[in-house]
Amino acid sequence: MTATAPREEQLWSRCAGCASLLYRKRLRRNLDVCPECGEHARLGAPERLRQLVDPGSLRPLADGLPEADPIDFVDVLPYPHRLTAARASTGLVEAVVCATATIGGHPVAMAVMDFRFLGGSLGCAVGELITRTAERALDERIPLVLVTASGGARMQEGVLSLMQMATVSQAIAALREAGLLTVSVLTDPTYGGVAASFATNTDLVLAESGARMGFAGPRVIRQVTGRALPEGFQTADFLLRHGQVDMVVQRRSLRGRLVALLAATRAGAPTRPSVPRQEPASHRERLAADDAAVARSPATPEADGTPAVRDAWDTVRMARHPGRPTTLDYLDSVFDGFVELHGDRLGADCPAIVGGVARLAGRYVMVIGHQKGHTTAELVARNFGMASPAGHRKALRLMRLAARLGLPVVTLVDTPGADPGVSAEEHGQAAAIAENILALTVLPTPVLAVITGEGGSGGALALAVADRVLMLENAVYSVISPEGCAAILWPDRSAAPQAARALRLSAPDLRRLGVVDEVVPEPPAAAHDDPAETALRLRAALLANLLPLLDVPPAMLVRLRRQRFRRFGATRAGQRAGVR
Ligand SMILES: [Zn+2]
Repeated sequence: MTATAPREEQLWSRCAGCASLLYRKRLRRNLDVCPECGEHARLGAPERLRQLVDPGSLRPLADGLPEADPIDFVDVLPYPHRLTAARASTGLVEAVVCATATIGGHPVAMAVMDFRFLGGSLGCAVGELITRTAERALDERIPLVLVTASGGARMQEGVLSLMQMATVSQAIAALREAGLLTVSVLTDPTYGGVAASFATNTDLVLAESGARMGFAGPRVIRQVTGRALPEGFQTADFLLRHGQVDMVVQRRSLRGRLVALLAATRAGAPTRPSVPRQEPASHRERLAADDAAVARSPATPEADGTPAVRDAWDTVRMARHPGRPTTLDYLDSVFDGFVELHGDRLGADCPAIVGGVARLAGRYVMVIGHQKGHTTAELVARNFGMASPAGHRKALRLMRLAARLGLPVVTLVDTPGADPGVSAEEHGQAAAIAENILALTVLPTPVLAVITGEGGSGGALALAVADRVLMLENAVYSVISPEGCAAILWPDRSAAPQAARALRLSAPDLRRLGVVDEVVPEPPAAAHDDPAETALRLRAALLANLLPLLDVPPAMLVRLRRQRFRRFGATRAGQRAGVR
């Protein structure tokens, strides 16, 4: 240790956001986030790792690689000189630091890019190191976490740097096939070849607050288009709005978010393919307690007596009551630890569909549901629970992710129908719904659907091709709205009450038809009068129906699910007498 007095600029630094002069130690304590304006300063890879992983858990992977200057590149300086300078100024061997570690006790393989090293550019060595990290994750059957910071491919290595996009992507595909979670954390800036490969082709994409991500940089786009760019272009919030990232996370919450996601997916993923699921003892005890709770609960129509007969039109009005609990209400009351995942990755994030991982009595599930609202403003913001094609594609993405990670899917259906707008048609509403129905028929994980409010036509079915279909007592499920039916088959819409009766859309009728497997009784007079009791009953019903499905092998589940939906063609006529 030398006793040299630190110079002024080492003690203080100026915020790039608000120009405040900040005491360096205070800034570092605040994770290099400006306490005045919230600006997230860029972090080098070692500091980033220090912030994210459990102390003492970091095991760096070997970074020894042969010297690479594959095309003898020279600009004003020979490429090797630039490499030497980057090594000297950063203390790193390359623009990525790779390691295994634990985060909140969950083992992971990590590759963290460092923008200080030649702009975090993706060259052959960086590609090789990240690929090796992914292979390590595959060998150890642990998740892969990537933290990206890059201007793009390393032009000094020519087209060979471009090939790294494919090399790393293949390694990520192998993890996908093995059902191992891949997560990327976008930090500022992430552009070009990195953005167009492993930064965005992972299962989950988190954007740190203030991160910008895009394929082409803003300067290039301005030059090409000759136009000013919209406010906030390519920022994390822009990406969230356009369906490109699952969430935007403040730096101080990043570690906690990763812990929650790792916990959720680790619980579901089988440790080896074709080996039976092993439950930790504490988990079994919890499940046993739940079983006992289920046995005591009045969540079956038989235990509760015959539900009171209500006119079908009254039921329609109950199902649409603005006070009726919504999907987000149930996520709060029935489930724990919901972590919402956003976006279809194709351009939008539909607010009418919410989804993400959550716990049901300690077991992780993927929950996907339509979201309405209680006030006019909420309803408008959520498009009255009418999903756009982007909403259906978000749901599809989450269903497939759940299947890969071995998580059961629980859907909560509450929609008047799919969005009937022009834009929805332009973006392929029909095909989007069709794709979901098809995907659900073959999804190799348990699927449990609950019609909680309105089950409106194809928009509802897009979330309701399930192993078990439950329905709240005052929910409705129908091929068309009573008003729509009345307008077509009666003189006018005022015949909606008659149409409602004719459509057989109530839970008891649908139970008799075999469309619904179980009716979940609501407290008197309806769910909105006692949301807490409704939540208890729904929770008990979910557990009673989900737990038996968990023991069924995926191939058998799919076979039984297809049989379940095949039988409607043959038995409907025979069941009709029972309804009348
Ligand atoms: Zn600031």
